[in-house]
Amino acid sequence: MSQPGSLSQPPVKDPHACLRQVFGYQDFRGNQQAVVEAVMAGRNALVLMPTGGGKSLCYQVPALCRQGTAVVISPLIALMRDQVEAMKHLGVRAAYLNSTLTPGEAAEVRAALAAGELDLLYVAPERLLQEQTLTQLDRVELALVAIDEAHCVSQWGHDFRPEYLRLRELIERFPGVPRLALTATADLRTRREILEQLFPDEGETYLSSFDRPNIRYRVGRKDNPKQQLLRFIREEHEGESGIVYCMSRRKTEEYAAWLDGQGIPAIAYHAGLDGEIRRHHQQRFVQEEGLVVVATVAFGMGIDKPDVRFVAHLDLPKSVEAYYQETGRAGRDGLAADAWMVYGLQDVYQLRQLIAASDAGELHKRNEQKRLDALLAYCEGVACRRRTLLAYFDEAHPGDCGNCDNCLQPVETWDATEAAQKALSCIYRTGQRYGAAYIADVLRGVETDRIREAGHDRLSVFGIGEALDKRTWQSVIRQLMALGYLQADPEGYGGLRLDERCRALLRGEETVRLRWEKGRQRSRATQRRSTVSAEDQPLWEALRAHRRHLAESEGVPPYVIFHDATLQEMAARRPGTLDALAGISGVGQYKLDRYGEEFIAVIRAYEHGVDARDFPDAE
Ligand code: ADP
Ligand code: ZN
Repeated sequence: MSQPGSLSQPPVKDPHACLRQVFGYQDFRGNQQAVVEAVMAGRNALVLMPTGGGKSLCYQVPALCRQGTAVVISPLIALMRDQVEAMKHLGVRAAYLNSTLTPGEAAEVRAALAAGELDLLYVAPERLLQEQTLTQLDRVELALVAIDEAHCVSQWGHDFRPEYLRLRELIERFPGVPRLALTATADLRTRREILEQLFPDEGETYLSSFDRPNIRYRVGRKDNPKQQLLRFIREEHEGESGIVYCMSRRKTEEYAAWLDGQGIPAIAYHAGLDGEIRRHHQQRFVQEEGLVVVATVAFGMGIDKPDVRFVAHLDLPKSVEAYYQETGRAGRDGLAADAWMVYGLQDVYQLRQLIAASDAGELHKRNEQKRLDALLAYCEGVACRRRTLLAYFDEAHPGDCGNCDNCLQPVETWDATEAAQKALSCIYRTGQRYGAAYIADVLRGVETDRIREAGHDRLSVFGIGEALDKRTWQSVIRQLMALGYLQADPEGYGGLRLDERCRALLRGEETVRLRWEKGRQRSRATQRRSTVSAEDQPLWEALRAHRRHLAESEGVPPYVIFHDATLQEMAARRPGTLDALAGISGVGQYKLDRYGEEFIAVIRAYEHGVDARDFPDAE
């Protein structure tokens, strides 16, 4: 592997000049500038931005513009190597200290730190808090301390790390060094805890919108999920990276093997796999282009691959928060990405049943119930998905986002009050012991043996629903279940029961509108959204092939060389000189010097009619 870090550039003191020269970006985004200014002035800041919002620049730019070394604390050890590699590829003098280094390697890093040769030092909290490290830091000039994944300090959160509480010690130890805390978790309680724990002195809060405008949200009815998934990937994401989430370990393996057999390269990931295999699969997912990982929720923390083009859910996530976090792993690079989910009556039933059957306390059960209700309300909702999601995080959005299924293809709804009353009475009269298929048959007046034996063909509800087909009845029942009118049999025999909530509806004091579900149609929501025009496609492929070649020879993921957005701009603008290339977003001075000529050569060869496949570095 090469050592790009040795070629350092003269320090740039002005943040804007640094942004352009080192990172190759024209302007700061959103709150970045305000945060950078605060840190430059020596103030503390709490930065709340969604995934992909651009948190890292908030400390990277001041790290380069302020005197001394910036310390970045991160719990995600697996990420440090890639982050440092990405920094070195910008000509930044960066290194990391964590338990994966050999004693020799760690000693080298310490020596560089002592000699003042580091702009950025990434360190795991355990390492940082060791007396040896602290004593050493006492002797060097610190530009700032950045605390990444700052929500780990929250004892209520799901990522709590006890070492994070000890980070308070840094305040007294390094007075006068500005502190930055960064997280993509926005809820108020966590925010307060971070401020209390990490900024008992003083800290400004910079809250950004949590909207992810480039992600298209879609939720569909489950109907042969394997084929649905295959069609989705083939039609919209062939050759691209994506994550497919399922609930069970067995299913991740089954689906990965199946996709692979269908010509979609896929691997499985779950907590039951051997540690070595898990690391290997994670590594492959990060390094390779166009690999799909079929995973349980164990996968995701510590993946900051920017070019994940889709996140698909084949099972319902646990809550809206979990859904937002999981889907948020798509499109960190800001290019178009999909959050796609299918679910059916069975899924709703299972989750309701799990809660009903659990022996947790009443309060806990009720909370779980509420979480599930919120998620189902999102799934069944007919309003703008983005608006619903953001409202859940207390952020107002006007709706009509134009980038979710409900906005792209407005849902037809119907007054289903009468149908719902019929279904509910039928469930009641048959003794609240049967599933949706049976109820639909009774409503439609189908004389099966089972119905006749039970004597249900003599009930007044028998045949009162002939006007609707079986699918529609099943859809009505699923929606009633999702809306909480129906509950699952806690014994798990598949029976449906009426919830308290039914009363008002049965008495006619309440009406209900449901989605009118039609078969699959090709709509605007399911069109491939390529940002590369057909005309630029071959050049884009050639540029990617060259990037792949470089990435392999340097042992880094392709995005460390250039991000997709940068290559796409190259393919569209086709710069012929270094000057022109420098004008492309993501091309800083260091990469220009290092890779500029080669990429111009790829473009030139292409323009002179050399087929991309003939280019020596292409596969
Ligand atoms: P986060 O850590 O908040 O998830 P990152 O720091 O990884 O986000 O940034 C997300 C993406 O946005 C990266 O590809 C990064 O290079 C890009 N980016 C960040 N700030 C800017 C900017 N000012 N201009 C252009 N691209 C940016
Ligand atoms: Zn919308």
